[in-house]
Amino acid sequence: MSQRRVRVRFAPSPTGALHIGGVRTALYNYLFAQAHGGDMILRIEDTDSQRFVPGAEEYIIESLEWLGIKFDEGVSYGGPHGPYRQSERREIYRAHVDQLLQAGRAYIAFDTPEELEAKRQSIPNFQYDASTRLSMRNSLVLAAEEVERLIQEGEQYVVRFKVEPNEEIIVQDIIRSEVSFNSSILDDKVLYKSADDLPTYHLANIVDDHLMQISHVIRGEEWLPSSPLHVLLYRAFGWEDTMPQFAHLPLLLKPDGNGKLSKRDGDRLGFPVFPLRWVDPKTGEVSSGYRESGYLPEALVNFVALLGWNPGNEHDEVMSMQELIHHFKLDKCSKAGARFDYQKGRWFNHHYLQQADPERLARLLMPLIREQGIETTESYAARVIELVRERSQTIPELWEQGSFFFLAPTSYDEKTVAKRWRPESKQWFEALIALLSQQGEQLPSLETETLVKQWIETSELSLGAVMNCFRLALVGASRGPHIFDITALLGRDETIARLQHAIQVLG
Ligand code: GLU
Repeated sequence: MSQRRVRVRFAPSPTGALHIGGVRTALYNYLFAQAHGGDMILRIEDTDSQRFVPGAEEYIIESLEWLGIKFDEGVSYGGPHGPYRQSERREIYRAHVDQLLQAGRAYIAFDTPEELEAKRQSIPNFQYDASTRLSMRNSLVLAAEEVERLIQEGEQYVVRFKVEPNEEIIVQDIIRSEVSFNSSILDDKVLYKSADDLPTYHLANIVDDHLMQISHVIRGEEWLPSSPLHVLLYRAFGWEDTMPQFAHLPLLLKPDGNGKLSKRDGDRLGFPVFPLRWVDPKTGEVSSGYRESGYLPEALVNFVALLGWNPGNEHDEVMSMQELIHHFKLDKCSKAGARFDYQKGRWFNHHYLQQADPERLARLLMPLIREQGIETTESYAARVIELVRERSQTIPELWEQGSFFFLAPTSYDEKTVAKRWRPESKQWFEALIALLSQQGEQLPSLETETLVKQWIETSELSLGAVMNCFRLALVGASRGPHIFDITALLGRDETIARLQHAIQVLG
């Protein structure tokens, strides 16, 4: 193995929100770079002007920042190999296209869309390749002066790569080992379009990987079919010696059934497929994001890291970013598609919610509380969170579980009332109010518990019956944490007010 410095890149096209599969690609590149003390580069591949979506680049950068995936070089980071946005590298690509033209490895083609369509109609399975290129309108057929004249007259053209037929191309892939292709399946791919003076994905991708000294190309399986062409391009430029090693990651599969995960699966089953909320600038359509749905970035990172890789049975699957870096091995990634088990994502989030600093969670919860028009402090919210997080998988669930700490019940769950409220309940509450009125405003949990239980015992009441009614008055239903933790947080006056209100409403 060569001692080349590890340099990887994440190279998204800004065509919309970053899909969760793209998040995984970025994450694996990051883990790999970190594990080898290498560099991670953010390159924006925006050469397809038709598919460019405003805001997508900013979205991608914000998503990765939120997840803690950091870059050493790239768009918004800078570095010695810039510019890192492909639309700003036109001259570089033009020079490389000229190099291939001069070497006879590429040619200029003038065929119009109509001419190409006519060929498709007349020749079954038409492919622009060695078998057809000499019957087309290109610089292999036309005289040099004619080509020159057409260009001078402003006729639009493309540059195509001349693929030699019947050659075996072996792509060495770290995850799939050797994948072999026959060059005859490839067409003479377009490398450059005069119409917008831009290269296509293939050329720009190869040239930049070379110039940016990329050592490993880690990307989704959908790019595997492009890799033989990429190998041929490296050879045509004479760059075989510095060709990066490839690793094509497995597909993400639907949670149920067959096929690859799509946004529709998320809509159907109720989970986001994007890290952050995304508003489509054209249609205004809003797609949910993990951040806004109340996930912690470290939970999403841990969950996504295990989609297609695992550290082996002897390791815990709960891993911080540092632990992931420590254990991650590219050659331990699986070839088989990884099922997107979103329930597992919820499980991870629940786990990380229990570990997180309550003050941090309070800051995340505050906007939801304010939305309800409630005035409260972060420290009160943090105390609520400590009591309800065990029952919560997401930030909004903290609100659902804990809302009664901020809003006194105005009505009471009917079923619980039918089951728990007794004719004697009113007297119990009156006695309880009298008892609590003698206490300080703070109702320390243990002390209050002892006090109330003593009173129940000496009055020869049923502990269960009284407690169930007490809970109903405090929460409005039969759920919630330990009663005396609730009263400790609410305090004496609020507790008494809730008991009084229950007497009024339920009599
Ligand atoms: N621009 C491609 C994408 O959007 C990059 C593929 C690659 O990593 O080579 O995913």
